[in-house]
Amino acid sequence: MKLGRELVSADAIQRRVQELAADVSRDYAGIDRPLILLPVLKGSVCFATDLSRHLTVPVNFDYVAVSSYGTGTESSGHVQLLKDLTMDVAGRDVLMVEDIIDTGLTTSFLFDHVQRHRPASLKLCVLLNKQERRITPVPMAYKGFDIPNQFVVGYGLDFDELYRNLSAVHVLEP
Ligand code: 5GP
Repeated sequence: MKLGRELVSADAIQRRVQELAADVSRDYAGIDRPLILLPVLKGSVCFATDLSRHLTVPVNFDYVAVSSYGTGTESSGHVQLLKDLTMDVAGRDVLMVEDIIDTGLTTSFLFDHVQRHRPASLKLCVLLNKQERRITPVPMAYKGFDIPNQFVVGYGLDFDELYRNLSAVHVLEP
């Protein structure tokens, strides 16, 4: 597999991140306690970090990690929690931050998991959406880009732990 053409440029990502941050800031303006940003490790770290820099509301960070067992570029749908919440989210506003939604199985598993901790509100902010592959519906309050059904890397997303540091999103080619 090798790095293919650029699908979403670094400039386009940064512009969209600022727009999303403006939407989030507007929607949570005036909240009593900081908004808990909940990036899903590891892929969402770049996105969540950039997003947070443009937010005008106070935020806390917590992180969760999952593994969805699968080979190479296919997720299997068997999701396992690798790292749980460390903050008490009960009664708090939580914004889960996801790099990409494909089948929706990972996000829907995590959403249910966090919901069981009884946050005051739980919403999802996702950078990339592959609608074509959806199996489980996922409520996306904030969405960056719809992309075609291709395996992508960069801006946090990896293949075999490579390419996370790229500032644009690229297609991976055989
Ligand atoms: P799901 O199918 O459960 O929505 O997505 C499972 C996980 O597979 C995502 O959180 C992400 O880590 C990974 N994934 C899905 N599509 C892609 C892709 O195009 N590129 C990369 N690098 N990971 C992906």
